[in-house]
Amino acid sequence: MRYLILSDIHSNWHALQAVLQHANGLYDQIVCCGDVVGYGGHPNEVTEWCQNHATHIVRGNHDKACTGSEEIEWFNTAAHSAALWTMHTLTPPHTSYLQGLARGPQTVDGAQTEPFQILHGSPADEDEYLLTPADAGQAAHYLDAFVGFFGHTHIQGGFLCHRNGVRRIRRIGAPESEYVLELEPDLVYLLNPGSVGQPRDHDPRAAYLIYLPQDKLVSFQRVPYDVAAAQAGIREAGLPDILAERLEHGQ
Ligand code: ZN
Repeated sequence: MRYLILSDIHSNWHALQAVLQHANGLYDQIVCCGDVVGYGGHPNEVTEWCQNHATHIVRGNHDKACTGSEEIEWFNTAAHSAALWTMHTLTPPHTSYLQGLARGPQTVDGAQTEPFQILHGSPADEDEYLLTPADAGQAAHYLDAFVGFFGHTHIQGGFLCHRNGVRRIRRIGAPESEYVLELEPDLVYLLNPGSVGQPRDHDPRAAYLIYLPQDKLVSFQRVPYDVAAAQAGIREAGLPDILAERLEHGQ
């Protein structure tokens, strides 16, 4: 089985389309680590696509916030307006699909390969950010597999944990579209595909990864997309301009 692993699509239909075209033929199943909606201008299109295509998915904090399952007072102004707009824009069936998403971590059982887990923030707490090797070292104890895929930070890469410490896997600033990681035995990996719809690692290209458990390979990918079209959707929706602007800077 070959997996296309996505996270933090955030209602960005144009970025999602570019990823699917780029990854065409490279995967058998689609997995999503949450934050289907929030920030972008096409929540219904993206939710419907996830409902029809993602075989394994966990909820993100924006999926909860945009469907009334969580308080949004603590969101910053732009995220708050986007959450309210999304809540009013989502159709009832899409709202109930998002409300029904499972909390991470969830285990994905491969046919003849070792199971792996998917989660939004941290295996200990779905809303917590894994930003530093220290965060990852603590969190790895809560993982129930040798590899876990997470999102939430919108930073492609992740962490490799072994007995003597935790190392950051850096993907930041690499101009190539692909970075391949070979998984070694006896290590634990917390890997982030990066954000499809709102990258924050100073690379505006949409991010995703392909996981080949049989070959123990992870391929981190970046693909340019029609940022102007995604920005137009945000502006047409009347959302704060900062949400459109940040897309071209990848932050
Ligand atoms: Zn997110």
